[in-house]
Amino acid sequence: MKAPIAVRHGQGIFLPELDLWLDPRQSRARAFVSHAHSDHFARHDWTLCSAATRSLIEARYGGAASDTVATSAWDEPFQEGGHVLRLLPAGHILGSAMLHVIRLADGASLLYTGDFEIIRK
Ligand SMILES: [Zn+2]
Repeated sequence: MKAPIAVRHGQGIFLPELDLWLDPRQSRARAFVSHAHSDHFARHDWTLCSAATRSLIEARYGGAASDTVATSAWDEPFQEGGHVLRLLPAGHILGSAMLHVIRLADGASLLYTGDFEIIRK
């Protein structure tokens, strides 16, 4: 049985195997931004998002907000850190994306659908 891809949460959701935060509200070194609603955006050292989300971020926050933004075409896989990543349309707003991750070593996969919050009790 394969081990699941590790997911940590505290002040956001974090994938330690990829050193990647998912929709963090605070500035992080590396982040995936699922869509351009303001509760999902902060300035990060490196951001992964869809091309449409990048355009919306630039329109709202200025070009400097996207200096270190990487984009990928829909459903176009790319490799990073022993994983295959691809963005899939989420259907929430223009440019909203889900992040699909497959670990190459054993095929374990994870789909981050975006646009949800961790509620603390
Ligand atoms: Zn939203």
